[in-house]
Amino acid sequence: MKVLIVEDEVKTAEYLHKGLTEQGCAVDVANDGIDGQHLALQHDYDVIVLDVMLPGRDGFSVLRALREVKQTPVLMLTARDRVEDRIKGLHDGADDYLVKPFSFLELLARLQALTRRGRTQEPTQIRLSNLQIDLIARKAWRGATRIDLTAKEFSLLAVLARRQGEILSKTAIAELVWDMNFDSNTNVVEVAIKRLRAKIDAAFTPKLLHTIRPGCRPRRQPCR
Ligand code: CA
Repeated sequence: MKVLIVEDEVKTAEYLHKGLTEQGCAVDVANDGIDGQHLALQHDYDVIVLDVMLPGRDGFSVLRALREVKQTPVLMLTARDRVEDRIKGLHDGADDYLVKPFSFLELLARLQALTRRGRTQEPTQIRLSNLQIDLIARKAWRGATRIDLTAKEFSLLAVLARRQGEILSKTAIAELVWDMNFDSNTNVVEVAIKRLRAKIDAAFTPKLLHTIRPGCRPRRQPCR
């Protein structure tokens, strides 16, 4: 899940960034409405957490600009006792709201519900040969063997499995699984793919993860 947090309170933004990253999400943070709107329009997020009171441009204004072009699910953060803010947010196209202070687990559950709602045609399970992935429980099996994956490994597996048959560049994988501050010069993607392959492919057949080197044609001309 790729999440944008637009929140000017540094502590809240850090807390959300940390919590969501630990859940395997790719998280970008904007600390004002102008940056937030720019990121929301430039990138494709699965869900956006948008504070109402922001410097530069308030959350309602960001939401209205976003809704002119995109239907990315938006959860708004509103202050306690501001019923009119919640009504206005929902009226302007917010999909849900949460009153501060909120519990992280509630926020997470709401974000998951919003992204599921946005993907009604998407399956909750993916089967690829004898690999089975439960996207809701975030668990995977090869045959009867449960594969123990970290949150990031699961996100990587889900991204690849959803796009089975496609060739994904390292940059595309980094963009989908990590966040915008990801340094594509590092070998993090290679290392993560290697770890994932060791877990889902090494002891099993058929092999499902294939690396295509630049300059090589897939399938017909395998790399040597
Ligand atoms: Ca604020």
